[in-house]
Amino acid sequence: MAIQLVGKRFRPDQFGAYLDTVVLGPAFQPRFVTLHHTASPTLAQRPDGFTQQHLLNLQHYYGVKMGWHGAPHVFIDDRDDGIIVFQPMNLRGVHAVSFNKTSWGMEMLGYYDAEPFHTGRGAVVRDNAMAALAAMCKRLGAAPESIRFHRDDPTTRKSCPGRLVEKAYVVGRVAELLRAPAAPDMSGEAGWPEWTVLLPGGAPIEPVHVTDGRPIVRVRTFLEALAPGGKYALSADKQRVTWSAAGSPKVIPVAELDEAGAAWSFVRDLAGAAGRVLQVAGRTVQVV
Ligand SMILES: [Zn+2]
Repeated sequence: MAIQLVGKRFRPDQFGAYLDTVVLGPAFQPRFVTLHHTASPTLAQRPDGFTQQHLLNLQHYYGVKMGWHGAPHVFIDDRDDGIIVFQPMNLRGVHAVSFNKTSWGMEMLGYYDAEPFHTGRGAVVRDNAMAALAAMCKRLGAAPESIRFHRDDPTTRKSCPGRLVEKAYVVGRVAELLRAPAAPDMSGEAGWPEWTVLLPGGAPIEPVHVTDGRPIVRVRTFLEALAPGGKYALSADKQRVTWSAAGSPKVIPVAELDEAGAAWSFVRDLAGAAGRVLQVAGRTVQVV
């Protein structure tokens, strides 16, 4: 078997944009991420992280030695650009029997039964991994709670991703990262700019507020205008709305709750959930 090595490295702030270019077809529809550690090699055995030769060795290991048709999708090391796309994200990987069909697999360099996860190089791997997980959850519209550990697979007796890695920490940290305002991706200037948001067909939707320089609208108002009749559920911590209309439920980060308790989200997140794109001209956003 041959495994196609992608071998591209990303910094945490670059990875989301890469994931946006991944086209997921009917053959492989990941719904969550499965987290692993490499165990062997340990961090100590890779003082400079993964070199290109290490990646080639892994490609040989999975494809030839193991004879698998796939591998984990992503590897993480402690470099600045420590998020490595190993095999194509749009193809099924091999990393956990019960989760191969439905998840992306991600391997953190290290042996977290024994190597520290919250200090030293382990903490650098950890931070790269949490950023990658957040970007992957966002790409899939998956809640942080959907993340599984390899050891959650009833077919394995491994401790993977290591006994020092706690689910509560991972879910909490990823939720925090998903809540954090994304880098401004629309033109922002000083002051309190007013935005106009136009629905397909040209009707404006109101009211529009601004958070971190980007327009936000009421979740329900916006989605009812685009796709009436959906169901809404606000998470217990009020950080996310799950919206069920046609197709699979979408998870949308909440930007603000207003005084009446209504959830507001970034226009970009809502449009994404509804399968729409935005055209931005000045301070006018056209949903198309
Ligand atoms: Zn594992």
